[in-house]
Order: sequence, then C-alpha cells, then structure tokens
Amino acid sequence: MAMATENTAENGRRTFQVVRGGRAEIPPRLMNLLRDTSAPVIVYLAERHGLRRVPGLSREDLIERILRRLPEDGLRRLEDDLIAARYGGQPIEELLGLIMASDARRLGRSTPRLDAMPPEHATLIERTPGRWVYTMHGYDVTIDLRQRRLACGCAFFRFSAGRQALCKHLARALTLIPEVYAREVLIDLLVSREYGGPDAPNWEYDSPKVA
Ligand SMILES: [Zn+2]
Repeated sequence: MAMATENTAENGRRTFQVVRGGRAEIPPRLMNLLRDTSAPVIVYLAERHGLRRVPGLSREDLIERILRRLPEDGLRRLEDDLIAARYGGQPIEELLGLIMASDARRLGRSTPRLDAMPPEHATLIERTPGRWVYTMHGYDVTIDLRQRRLACGCAFFRFSAGRQALCKHLARALTLIPEVYAREVLIDLLVSREYGGPDAPNWEYDSPKVA
C-alpha cells in the first residue's frame, strides 16, 4: 500500500512524499520526475522495466503500480531512464540555456552573456580526472564533477553563488570541458534543481575569498 501526499513548497513547486509500508521511502526526486513525465513515456518505460501493459490505467494508477511492483534497484534504473528521456537528446547549448533560464529566475534578472567571455580568453591550467581549472580574465574557474563543486573568483559569482546561479566564466567553462562530462554536469545540475527533494545532494557553489 502506497500513499502519496502532495505538498506545495514555498517556491510554489509541488513536491511529493510517498510512504510505503515495509519499504524505504520513494525519493522525492523520482516522484517528481514521474509526475512530470507524460503518460505514454511512463507506459513505455514501465514495459521496458518488465511490467506487463494494463490498458486503461489512469496516470495515477500507472505510477502507483510502478512504485508497488519495481524493486529498489529497478526504481533506481527507472529514475536514470526518466532523466535520459527528459534530457538525454538535448545538445549542450540547450542544456546550458535551460540552466541560464533557471539562473535568471533565481536571480530575478538576466544572466551574464556567454559571448562576453570568449573561449579564446580561457586557458586550461589544471586537469585531473573529473576536475578542470581554467584561468579566465584573471579568475580561477573550477568545475569538479566528483566533489560536485563549482568555483569562480569573480565579483558576480560572489553575488550569484549564494543563489546557486552561474557566472559567465563557469558557463564558458562548461562549453570547454569534454562534452560527455559537460552533459553530466548540466543534467545533474538541472535534475537537482528541478526535481531534487530537500534532502537531495546538491552542488556546492563556491566563491573563494581573494587572499
Ligand atoms: Zn566568474
């Protein structure tokens, strides 16, 4: 028996908490993704995860049935599939555009223009697996995929980091690191922003103090 309760968070985003007898709670992120995925995609994914098609089920019943039937690891794979269905086919520029639009909403103003930070003014100064440090216009700009950390020393980021919004240097860096990693960073940022529950692990937006 599963029970979903709908809450409205202060930012107006709907969040869902699910309590199921005898099983761990469904992560809010999975619930939010399911709620935001169209019924045909849910039907398709349910079949792919081994659930026989039952015609005529409502969307709510479909979701309920998936949550009841799939084992924990199946639910984790389903979450990955839902994320791939939503963002997998989008080019880097579009993913970055979604991030910038989300930044603009957070900041209540337009975000810095990417073309104000030309790629030829960026120099890679350090690279270790999953981590890139560039210098751009005198600032150190770090993307650390493993630590889930974004850092830049510029004045704009001192303001925007607290609101978890990127500066033009970090946005530019995301167009310079290898595409497969940029995609991973951008999708992870988008999913945690759009669908992460309050307990979801978040990215650290770090504005280091100038010595
Ligand atoms: Zn910056």
